[in-house]
Amino acid sequence: MRDWPVWTLRRPALCYWLFIDIVAFATVVSVVICTPTPSPSEIARFAAIAGTAGAVIIGSSIYSHRLGETERNPWAAHLCYLTAGVLALPPNLMVLLLFGPALHCLLTQRPETHRWLFTLSATSLAVFATRYLLGWANPHANLLMMVGGAAVLLALRAALIAIGLKLRTPSASFEENVGEPIDVVLGIVAVSIGGLMGCVAESNAIHALIAGPPLALLERAAQLPQWRRSAQRDAKTGLANAVHWDSRARYELTKGAGRARPMAVMLMDLDHFKRVNDEVGHLAGDAALAAISLLLSGTVRRGDLVGRFGGEEFVVLLPEATPDEAESVAERVRQAVAALRVPTMATDGKPHELHGLTVSIGVSTTTRFGYELPDLLVAADAALLAAKAYGRNLVSMA
Ligand code: GH3
Ligand code: MG
Ligand code: MG
Repeated sequence: MRDWPVWTLRRPALCYWLFIDIVAFATVVSVVICTPTPSPSEIARFAAIAGTAGAVIIGSSIYSHRLGETERNPWAAHLCYLTAGVLALPPNLMVLLLFGPALHCLLTQRPETHRWLFTLSATSLAVFATRYLLGWANPHANLLMMVGGAAVLLALRAALIAIGLKLRTPSASFEENVGEPIDVVLGIVAVSIGGLMGCVAESNAIHALIAGPPLALLERAAQLPQWRRSAQRDAKTGLANAVHWDSRARYELTKGAGRARPMAVMLMDLDHFKRVNDEVGHLAGDAALAAISLLLSGTVRRGDLVGRFGGEEFVVLLPEATPDEAESVAERVRQAVAALRVPTMATDGKPHELHGLTVSIGVSTTTRFGYELPDLLVAADAALLAAKAYGRNLVSMA
């Protein structure tokens, strides 16, 4: 228990996450104790909703396992049948539906169980709050109430989770805490299908089956953001890969050219990196690349576009940067890399702290070279070669 990863959370995050978990658990227990035994028709509704959702989720999991998808977002599907439960089931059977996500976590052996538990607790609280607003014993299912309930469910769940993520990583962006617009759309689609499922199940349990195909489509669509992210990101560093960086940079440059904004490109290459691999191994080299990527993203401004250009080469587009500003950003990065210490494991398995890494940086600016990306890259590359020739650990302006 002492080595549970949950204890590595920052104290405010730990207190908040545990608070949400405990309140959710206490609510579940009191709901189970206070709700009368369900009638046979309610049990039939539960079976139809849980059976339809279960069949879709298991089918989709098998399919996605065969495709070799490792990271999946299953919450859209879970939100869908939980919404159906809010409308069509007594509270204690709603609680049984919450075993769906819990079982999912157990079966897929998620690496961050405490995070999953926190998300489940936040979801449970949002589900109970929505049920309370719609009418605890007999939820009203008129359209206006349903739309309001869906909005409360999504907004409360997102807020509870976003607070937890912000406390865990204060530097995280709004998008990392709340999700991208596509995640919001997926949430709206999930509760809409769930609303329909709940309504039809209320009139006749077996009609819940009709929600199966849209739910299957939702399950697949929920994987789209993951696919897009993995197509755009470099797996080792999490930065934009070269192809994605190139298209974003061209877009930003066209925008900047229209407004005649000064912009700059910074191309950097680690010095004597082959030696690091030769001396402490490629895994330590990879850890250094990941640490430098993190440092780079943290050193530049939020709107700056950081990418992995090649092996141990990184590239940054700085929108809104005059030549002087670009040079000082590059100098800041150079100094930060020189001061970096990376805890790694050497080839003999012993802990080893990498330090003394240095980087050479070439900078080109739109003021001198215009807004065509190839021109800026050629100029930055020539400046980088000059920095190497002058002895490395240098910034060179093209
Ligand atoms: P310098 O740039 O200062 O001239 O010397 P260097 O040794 O860094 O030379 P170069 O930039 O040509 O070397 C690239 C080396 O980076 C080769 C390879 O060993 C290492 N490298 C490239 N990609 C990766 C990677 O993904 N992981 C690891 N561990 N090493 C990489
Ligand atoms: Mg290189
Ligand atoms: Mg190098």
